[in-house]
Amino acid sequence: LADRLQETIKKITGKGKVSEQDVKEMTREVRLALLEADVNYKVVKDFVKRIKERAIGQEVMESLTPGQQVIKVVKEELTSLMGGEQSRVAVSERPPTVIMMVGLQGAGKTTTTGKLANLLRKKHNRKPLLVAADVYRPAAINQLETLGKQLSLPVFSLGTEANPVDIANQAIEKAKEEHLDYVIIDTAGRLHVDEDLMDELQQIKQNVNPDEVFLVVDAMTGQDAVNVAESFDQQLDVTGVVLTKLDGDTRGGAALSIKAVTNKPIKFAGMGEKLDELEAFHPERMASRILGMGDVLSLIEKAQDNVDQKKAQELEEKMRDASFTFDDFLDQMSQVKSMGPLEDLISMIPGANKMKGLKNVQVDEKQLVHVEAIIQSMTKKERVDPSVMNASRKKRIAKGSGRPVSEVNRLLKQFDDMKKMMKQMTNMQKGKKGKKGKG
Ligand code: GDP
Ligand code: MG
Repeated sequence: LADRLQETIKKITGKGKVSEQDVKEMTREVRLALLEADVNYKVVKDFVKRIKERAIGQEVMESLTPGQQVIKVVKEELTSLMGGEQSRVAVSERPPTVIMMVGLQGAGKTTTTGKLANLLRKKHNRKPLLVAADVYRPAAINQLETLGKQLSLPVFSLGTEANPVDIANQAIEKAKEEHLDYVIIDTAGRLHVDEDLMDELQQIKQNVNPDEVFLVVDAMTGQDAVNVAESFDQQLDVTGVVLTKLDGDTRGGAALSIKAVTNKPIKFAGMGEKLDELEAFHPERMASRILGMGDVLSLIEKAQDNVDQKKAQELEEKMRDASFTFDDFLDQMSQVKSMGPLEDLISMIPGANKMKGLKNVQVDEKQLVHVEAIIQSMTKKERVDPSVMNASRKKRIAKGSGRPVSEVNRLLKQFDDMKKMMKQMTNMQKGKKGKKGKG
């Protein structure tokens, strides 16, 4: 999806004037790109219609930067297609909070059960209990027990002979006794949606009355994922979706259609096989990534997870009063480098998509070295206050770093964008802190 759309986006962004013809051409490209990305055709139709209406409307035509305005419209619509804002995990008033994981075999239920437990403990200080309710294969129980060991988290199992409903009920009792506040039930899957499976899942659901029913779907299966999501939702009325294997999905079609088709939020994204590779799903960031605008917010979040707390605290304070400087940027970069794998991180930096094909992940580490060189050629004052920058300073920096002035300009622009995003993020976080009942 990214490649094709980004070509079109690039063409239109710089335009000082956007004609109806331009919009038509763009929507045609957007349409093709989405269909090519395996997005549900009904979804595409609605989407294109909305973009067209807005892009040909006054909002765009009368703006000073119509090209950019069109992109903004596309981004907003993409974001809302994927569900507006990010979602959280329910918290039951009477613990434990019960989460039931459902989905086809191989979708990633068991792995995600472990990841989610890990996330709840690490980020929210919760005490989860993992429950092995997939009784058809001994291997399934072993798999969960192994995950539990790796994470040092308790796993509840009654072997393969017990009934999943009993297992779930007893697990909840145990959680109450031991003051564990989350119960995550890993259920069985099948290769295809079938009645037996749905019956079993419905029974579990009716008996334990879970606070969340998370449908786990494999993003790599594209349009199939959408159909699977639709039938699971019809039968089980799921509360949210976890999209796994987004790390391998270059097309993004599933993410774009699932919310539109089921009207259930995508809550988390699986970004790899490791147990810390589950992220909150941010529709806006996903939209930005698709449009090649980079994903600075995820980058910062990742950095904060990995750098030591004190540094993170400092950074947060700097963001709050917007005193983030190029020195901090440099510091961040060296942190980023130690965070690896670089490929993942690079794809989040604005403009980085141009450095590499999204499919053929091959990082040009030279680019980072160049950025470093440019910052190092700035004076102390320039690093703290880039607003002093003028043509002769830029020339001097270009010369000092051995990079063209255009590159210096680009970095300054990116830095400015980043600061703006940080401000937005700080505001977002302020809003979040005020809210109660998050998981
Ligand atoms: P289940 O049958 O639904 O329980 O699926 P599993 O949890 O056993 O996962 C099936 C396979 O998918 C395993 O090899 C997992 O390591 C892999 N997997 C799960 N989530 C992800 C993900 O987000 N990214 C990648 N790359 N692999 C994943
Ligand atoms: Mg499993």
